Amino acid sequence: MGKTSKDKRDIYYRKAKEEGWRARSAFKLLQIDSECHIFDGVSKAVDLCAAPGSWSQVLARKLTENYKKALEKGPAPKPKIVAVDLQAMAPLEGVIQLQGDITNSSTAEQIIAHFDNSRADLVVCDGAPDVTGLHDMDIFIQSQLLLAALNIATYILRSGGTFVAKIFRAKDVSFLYAQLRIFFPYVYCTKPSSSRNSSIEAFVVCKDYSQPEGYEPNMLNPWMMEESWDFDKLTGVNRTIVPFVVCGDLNQPDSDMSYPLNYDGKEYKYHEPVQAPIAPPYAEALLMNRKRAEKSASTSNENNVDVDLNALD
Ligand code: SAM
Repeated sequence: MGKTSKDKRDIYYRKAKEEGWRARSAFKLLQIDSECHIFDGVSKAVDLCAAPGSWSQVLARKLTENYKKALEKGPAPKPKIVAVDLQAMAPLEGVIQLQGDITNSSTAEQIIAHFDNSRADLVVCDGAPDVTGLHDMDIFIQSQLLLAALNIATYILRSGGTFVAKIFRAKDVSFLYAQLRIFFPYVYCTKPSSSRNSSIEAFVVCKDYSQPEGYEPNMLNPWMMEESWDFDKLTGVNRTIVPFVVCGDLNQPDSDMSYPLNYDGKEYKYHEPVQAPIAPPYAEALLMNRKRAEKSASTSNENNVDVDLNALD
């Protein structure tokens, strides 16, 4: 494949290079803004899952424009942008960079620390897992990234602020919408034209952040992963985010692996199932197979008799 073949196939890839964006994703954020005006009045923003940094570039450019416009009217707050990713990012002017996992409370705490006594107007998250190829697993990890981003947003977003995040429009997407609606009265699902039609990716634009009465942002253990977690610690509206709970000792066998028959040192012995299925859905197929086998056995017996009779002649 030649150097230019990707340029020929993907207009946004080509345009990104022409216009100096680090990735074609820049156009997604720009197109979301052209429809939903997410940068209006924004001076502080957080870019979650930011590498290689094209959304941060867009933020830097838009917030600088806002700053210059605001200065014409009088003193204005300087733009502040914090970008986070698992991967290291090349430096970007005007962008504070953190390397870490947004589902980790320590990363979330570092982001929150940068917003000491102040809050962001906008939190964006373009988080995507490394695709495993297991469709359900990829969708699940994506939804965890979205919820981790939302959890961080509940700490750092000002009242009335905006949250934009990638979402996979899969089977149970309405559950995610329902969770977002707890915090935002306006939740839209957008699909920028630069996002491939073949992809289930879309973006939620959530406006007018409003913390539910009695809700306390909680980084103690956002996904309740620890064994000793006390379920009753969260009450009322604070229990509305559905936790993901890992059960069982991690040293126990992994249900996705194959093990040798004598793996735990005991001699293997076959055991019949304790209770065979009473009316399994595959019973009819088994019956048809048995009949077919009986029929072909009886046909071959008849042929054998013929052969024997012929032999007698
Ligand atoms: N918006 C970026 C841009 O315009 O350059 C592109 C983001 S890329 C599609 C998705 C990013 O999510 C990857 O860089 C990946 O490292 C990051 N990511 C995935 N899981 C993450 C996690 N748990 N914490 C932080 N970053 C994560």
